[in-house]
Amino acid sequence: MLRGLKADIVIYNIGQLVTFMEGPLARVSEDNAVIVRDAGVAIRDGKIVAVGRSSDIKSRFEGSKINADKRLVTPGLIDPHTHLVFYGSREDEFEDKLRGVSYSEILARGGGIYRTVTATREANVNDLLKRVLSVARLMLSHGTTTIEVKSGYALDLEGEAKMLYVARKLEELLPLKVIPTLLAHVPPLVYKENIQEYVNYFTNAIIPEIANRNLALYIDVFCDKGAFSLNDSKIILEAGLRAGLRARIHADQIEYIGCSKLVEKLNLDSLDHLEKMPEENSRLIAERGAVATLLPTSIMSMLEQSRPPVRALREAKTIIAIGSDYNPNNMTPLQQTVIDISPYILGLTPLEALAAATINAAKSLNISHEVGAIKENYTADIIIWEIENYKWLGYTWGYNKVLKVIAKGRIAYSRE
Ligand SMILES: [Zn+2]
Repeated sequence: MLRGLKADIVIYNIGQLVTFMEGPLARVSEDNAVIVRDAGVAIRDGKIVAVGRSSDIKSRFEGSKINADKRLVTPGLIDPHTHLVFYGSREDEFEDKLRGVSYSEILARGGGIYRTVTATREANVNDLLKRVLSVARLMLSHGTTTIEVKSGYALDLEGEAKMLYVARKLEELLPLKVIPTLLAHVPPLVYKENIQEYVNYFTNAIIPEIANRNLALYIDVFCDKGAFSLNDSKIILEAGLRAGLRARIHADQIEYIGCSKLVEKLNLDSLDHLEKMPEENSRLIAERGAVATLLPTSIMSMLEQSRPPVRALREAKTIIAIGSDYNPNNMTPLQQTVIDISPYILGLTPLEALAAATINAAKSLNISHEVGAIKENYTADIIIWEIENYKWLGYTWGYNKVLKVIAKGRIAYSRE
């Protein structure tokens, strides 16, 4: 046997290693998950260099050894839907919602997103960054190693650029992978009578300039009642695609106005929310190989009774991802919590939820070839959990079950 291969970190004595080697999955079960008992992983230069039997890995590789103590090990979590960059909070609106005031009413009176827009426009880069860093550290300490981050709380060019700059900066300061997204969130109130003018400004001024400055990889639009119409959403997404961005969409959350059907015409990597989507549209998403990204904690925060058609999505063999949708209306930034809540809100099994928050979430961001699995040459984003097997996910919840997080090949969090 070879001895003395160099590694930076060697994890051994893993009780159960769970990953999904075949890539994104439409049907998740123990048959297509890779579940290795008594496993080991070697890491060098930020990448996974070997996965195998614990004793084998431990004897072949020299490096800093971590005893996983027979615990569960999984890939780092990927959160494919966050509005991480914003300023202020809206805790009083939570009470309004509980008293029966609807989200549309709050929005129509200048609350909701519009209130956050005012606060975010006024905040400077340092204030935003300070706040984003504290939330991102919390995410990292609960196992999130990749995050998608949307703009959308400034609505004008310089403000949106400021938000995306903060998202980019985050990647320099923490061992996180960040996927920045330019979001057409809502038309500003001053354009209320002339939304077309704002759509023109967004497509002709904001999109090309953000793409030129290399500040975003994705274009996204909130296609819904009270946000952008079906036609305007199409115009915005097409402009983003023309500028070289990839596309994703907020669809069918508040009301069904046909938004998820845009997947037939446009190259969308992900359709997010889908609480009001008709079951038959599941097939359209599956046929195009797009991902349905479901947001269970957002459903809770909206006090929403509707659910995305999970059974129809499964039957159509749609790839399902889950995300936090962290935003001032849903102040839960932890993808671990999203996994734990998914069985209760969406009916996902723990294994489905794990796939939805790792390899399938990576697929929704078009990065499933580099993150989301414990596989040779993948980025070394790995969680050592305190639980012994994946069946404890969701079974127990409400506290941090993560012992150690390795992100980009270095220890980013350790409970001790
Ligand atoms: Zn969102």
